[in-house]
Amino acid sequence: MSEQVVGSAEPDLAVEITGLKKSFGPLEVLKDIDLSVRRGDVVCIIGPSGSGKSTLLRCVNLLEEPTAGRIVVNGQELTDPDVDIDAARTRIGMVFQGFNLFAHLSVLNNLTVAQRKVLGRSPEEAQRTALRNLERVGLSDKVNAMPAQLSGGQQQRAAIARALSMDPSVMLFDEPTSALDPELVGDVLGVMRQLADEGMTMLVVTHEMQFAREVADRVLFMDGGYVVEEGPAAQVIGDPQHERTQSFLARVL
Ligand code: ADP
Ligand code: MG
Repeated sequence: MSEQVVGSAEPDLAVEITGLKKSFGPLEVLKDIDLSVRRGDVVCIIGPSGSGKSTLLRCVNLLEEPTAGRIVVNGQELTDPDVDIDAARTRIGMVFQGFNLFAHLSVLNNLTVAQRKVLGRSPEEAQRTALRNLERVGLSDKVNAMPAQLSGGQQQRAAIARALSMDPSVMLFDEPTSALDPELVGDVLGVMRQLADEGMTMLVVTHEMQFAREVADRVLFMDGGYVVEEGPAAQVIGDPQHERTQSFLARVL
């Protein structure tokens, strides 16, 4: 796969964020975020509700427009006013907490529609890619099901397969298991773990500390619009240095 490397001095970096700020009117939600993610790395973001985790992810694929700062994904500066955002965004996969499948489309059509309309793939190629990714997430038997016929965990795995079908260079996950019944969480985390093992670059907002400990190359603790503490999972979760990290973990562990 050819990677376009423009505007980046560091071709090993999949995501480079510098001086990112985001305000909603008078509310300053992201105050000054710097974050680099190397290709193939899994970075988990933890922190209390309202700390800006979702806003950070939404800035990375420009669902929110940053107030200030620079975001480079895969060598392309998304914050460059001349960049083709729609084109750049196709290679950034996003999976949200809620299930975002199109309710009126079969699982297969959920996976093929953007491939055809956005990437211009032929129906045959889109279907081949979809079937391959459904197999990856263990849903080969649900190709023709409607979303309402799937469990929450299956819907979430279909949403992951849909994102993968666009050949993303990076996958963003925003609390992908938070809305699931507890017995369905493991299947989704298992798929994410497999993706990590395959070398996918991932930014994951999660409350699943066990997953973060086992899968993350790095953990960021966010609070009040800042990254308060970051490092290897064993350090940030196992031996937090900052008082705010300690009190957060005491509440969730
Ligand atoms: P987290 O994901 O860590 O819970 P969010 O990024 O969702 O935090 O939200 C951080 C803060 O930004 C919250 O105070 C939230 O109410 C506010 N916020 C998020 N999105 C918007 C928006 N579109 N308009 C106004 N305020 C927002
Ligand atoms: Mg959130």
